[in-house]
Parts: sequence; structure tokens; C-alpha cells
Amino acid sequence: MDFDLPEDVVAMKKKAAEFAAREFTAAAAAEHDEGEKYPDEIRRKAFREGFLDMGNPWGMLVAMEEFCRVDPGLGLSAIVPAFGSEILMLFGSDFQKKKYLEPVMHGEKMSGFAVTDSGAGSDVAGISAALTRNEDGSYLLNGQKIFITNGGIADHFYLLARSSPPPPEKRHRGLTMVVVESAMEGFRATQLKGKLGMRATNTAELTFSNVRIPAENVIGEEGKAFYYVMTFFNISRIYVAAQALGIAQGALDRLTSYLAALRASGSAAADGEAAQFLVAEVASRIDAARLLTYRAASYLFKFTPDPVATSMAKYYAAETATYAVTRILEFMGADGVTTDMERFYRDAKIMEIWEGTSEVEKLIVARMLKEKGEGK
Ligand SMILES: Cc1cc2nc3c(=O)[nH]c(=O)nc-3n(C[C@H](O)[C@H](O)[C@H](O)COP(=O)(O)OP(=O)(O)OC[C@H]3O[C@@H](n4cnc5c(N)ncnc54)[C@H](O)[C@@H]3O)c2cc1C
Repeated sequence: MDFDLPEDVVAMKKKAAEFAAREFTAAAAAEHDEGEKYPDEIRRKAFREGFLDMGNPWGMLVAMEEFCRVDPGLGLSAIVPAFGSEILMLFGSDFQKKKYLEPVMHGEKMSGFAVTDSGAGSDVAGISAALTRNEDGSYLLNGQKIFITNGGIADHFYLLARSSPPPPEKRHRGLTMVVVESAMEGFRATQLKGKLGMRATNTAELTFSNVRIPAENVIGEEGKAFYYVMTFFNISRIYVAAQALGIAQGALDRLTSYLAALRASGSAAADGEAAQFLVAEVASRIDAARLLTYRAASYLFKFTPDPVATSMAKYYAAETATYAVTRILEFMGADGVTTDMERFYRDAKIMEIWEGTSEVEKLIVARMLKEKGEGK
């Protein structure tokens, strides 16, 4: 068993760390957080430097970690312009790949992934956005989606809607995924302001009023999209785990600097038991989260994803992020709430919510272990 990353991945990690140190300045982080402003220029630079290369998933994973380590809001914004693209890579037609995926892969357009609506978040099958079929084979989309990342800035969305009523006890059937362009008539996006954290990312409510969706924009097979969404989550959850890992590591970096400053000022607290225990506890959890995340990633990137490993990684890394920021902010006292630890504290919480809450991940782990007979 080899715990070392391959040389090319280590090189990418270093390159990402250097990029983040250079571009995610304290001023830029504060400006985009306070102004709730998406950092488009940083996104373009990150693309030009090759961080959004879906053909190099390990590179993307470690870049996400290093980016969020320096600043979670800017870091995520820089690497999320292609959100949802795996859906088209796996299930899209040649036409859809050419029209929608290619421009995103060339950094010319941005995408979003729209599942959650006001009727349903965790309960994906409970969504109420609806597709009805026209006589000419096209569809009409009506309804709304909320909390959609890139909602106000993406050119198109991979969107889940109900296309037929499900049979009793089979609510996951009758769901269809389509590509919706923001330029289509009847589409409206309203940016959501005042989020707790990740304020540099753009989050919006989308509404659809008789939006005409051509038949060629249906992804895969009509009625089968619940499976596509779950497949996507098994990918995206690993990237969220990497973001969480970066946040936890970034908090530990700040603690290390804080202790060094305390030491330099002659404070005994820098090497007191409380500080030592805190460093050891946070560092141990980060290592455990990293091992879980890289293990889940190694299964996925070898095309043998393991949903149990993925959900364990996502749940544990997310909780490690909130544990690290909370404990470190508390240790720093007033210095915690008046420095950028304050932003880390706010940015971390979403890790436990999006792409599957911690409760949802735990339910998946327990159910699948029971099915495999390993939960006893
Ligand atoms: C900033 C932001 C960006 C987002 N971006 C996107 C996006 O791009 N695309 C998208 O589709 N969605 C997005 N979301 C939505 C996100 O995925 C949902 O918030 C998430 O899935 C949880 O759904 P919910 O908020 O409706 O909470 P709910 O599902 O209502 O959950 C509320 C609470 O109940 C618990 N709970 C729910 N079901 C169970 C159960 N069966 N057993 C035990 N406990 C349960 C949850 O764990 C949670 O604690 C985003 C959200 C935010 C805040």
C-alpha cells in the first residue's frame, strides 16, 4: 500500500497552492465576500492555468483542496464554472457534448446543476418542477429551483424535473434531466444575497414559465434521471470532501501562524497543553479525512466508485471542517472573530449541507453496510 501521491499530482498541488497564494489575496477575499461578488477574473486565470481539466481528476481534486485552504469562497468560485458537467460526459448525446460541454471545457461558458426546489432538497424524488410534452416532441418547463450555484451567471443548467407521475412506492421514477439555457424565453434568475458563507459564489433562485425545451435537450432517457443524479452525487461528493479538507487545513495553518505569533510575543499559551492538544486533535482528524477522501477518489478515478467510501469521506471531511474552524476560532477568542478565521467559520458550514447533508450521508453508509451485511 502506497500513501504517497504520484509526482504529477504533487506538482499540481504545489502549482495550485502557489496560484492561490498569489491570487487569493486578503483584499480580494474580503472584497468578494463582503460584496457577494463572483470573482470572474480569478476564474478566467484559474482556467488559463489549467486547473479545470476534467481529464485530470486528481489534479482538480488537489487544486480544490489547496484553493479552499487559502480562501474557500474564491477557491470554490475558481473551480466551479463547469459544475454538473460530469452529467453530460456520462449521459449526454454527441449533440449535447458539442453544443454545451465543449464551450465549458474551453472556458467560454459556465454551467450549473439544478436539482433542489422549494419542495425538495434531500428528498430528490420530491421535486415539483414539471416537464410536459408538446405535440411536436418538445417540452414545456414550469416551476422553480432554489439555492442554485452559478444560478445568476451560468449559460446553461442540467436540470431535474418531473416528466410523469411515479407509480406508487416508486417515486424515483418519472424524473427527467434536461439542458436549460439561461437565454431561453421564460427563464429568470434572482441572486440570493446574505448567505452565511461562501459569499463569493453566486447562488440564485431560478424560475421557469413555459420554457420550451427542445427534445434534443433531454439528457439520456426520459424518466431515468434519478439514477443520473445519484451517479453525479457519487462524483461531486468527493470534490466537496476535498473542499472541506482544504478548509480544515486552512484553519490549522492559521492556528499555526497564531501560535507562532504568541510564541514570539513570549506567551506561554503558545506551547501550553490546550494548544498542543488542539493541534494534535485537529491534525489527526484532517489526516483521517484526507485518507478517506483519497481512498474514495482512487475508487472513483479507477471507474469503480464505492458509494459507502464516498459518503463516509463527504460526511467525515465536512464535519472535520466545522470541527476545525469551531475549535480554532474558540481558541483564538476575540482574535478568531476579528480575523479571516471568521470567514472560514462561516464558509465551512455549507460543507455539511450541500450535495447531501451529513444525515443523508450517514443514512447511505448505514443502509449500504446493512445490505452488504457489514453493519453488524
Ligand atoms: C449555498 C448553497 C448552494 C447550493 N447549490 C446547489 C446547486 O447548485 N444545485 C442544487 O440542486 N442544490 C443546491 N443547493 C441545495 C442543497 O443541495 C440542499 O440545501 C441540500 O440538499 C439540503 O436540502 P434542504 O436544504 O432542502 O434541507 P432538507 O432536505 O429539508 O433537510 C433539512 C434537515 O433535515 C435533515 N433530513 C432530511 N431528510 C432526512 C432524513 N431522511 N433522515 C434524517 N434527517 C433528514 C437534513 O439532514 C437537514 O438537517 C445549495 C444550497 C446552498 C445553501
